[in-house]
Amino acid sequence: MTKEEALQRLEEAGYRHSRRRERMVEILAEEDRYLTAKELWEKMQEIYPDLSADTIYRNLGLLHEMGIVTMTEFQGERRYRFHCGIDHHHHHFICLGCGASQEILNCPLEVLQPQLKGATIVGHRFEIFGYCPQCWKKGNS
Ligand SMILES: [Zn+2]
Ligand SMILES: [Zn+2]
Ligand SMILES: [Zn+2]
Repeated sequence: MTKEEALQRLEEAGYRHSRRRERMVEILAEEDRYLTAKELWEKMQEIYPDLSADTIYRNLGLLHEMGIVTMTEFQGERRYRFHCGIDHHHHHFICLGCGASQEILNCPLEVLQPQLKGATIVGHRFEIFGYCPQCWKKGNS
């Protein structure tokens, strides 16, 4: 997803234009990795020093509902990133160092399903955590 697509999606859903929300979408698009609400809040405060955490959470909730951001939880915190833009079913490898993610286009469910005979599966989550080559090098040098 691009920043423009995200803003268009909001507009089409009837949300009136907000400079602050636009900036938030911009930061999420630029960063292109998982951020905590606090990290996002800090970046927003560079321009909007009075912005409340509540506004951040409210807007993240909205962006998540609209499919503009994806949310996950690791190292004890919820994290958000701009949707990668791939619409068909897939999974992610996530770097614990920088929050970058990489698409995994195969789904492990195909392999696991034979072990679940008789079960009706309605959903699943699968994420791989680790370190990207850059972060691994940094941590081991
Ligand atoms: Zn993705
Ligand atoms: Zn990394
Ligand atoms: Zn899957």
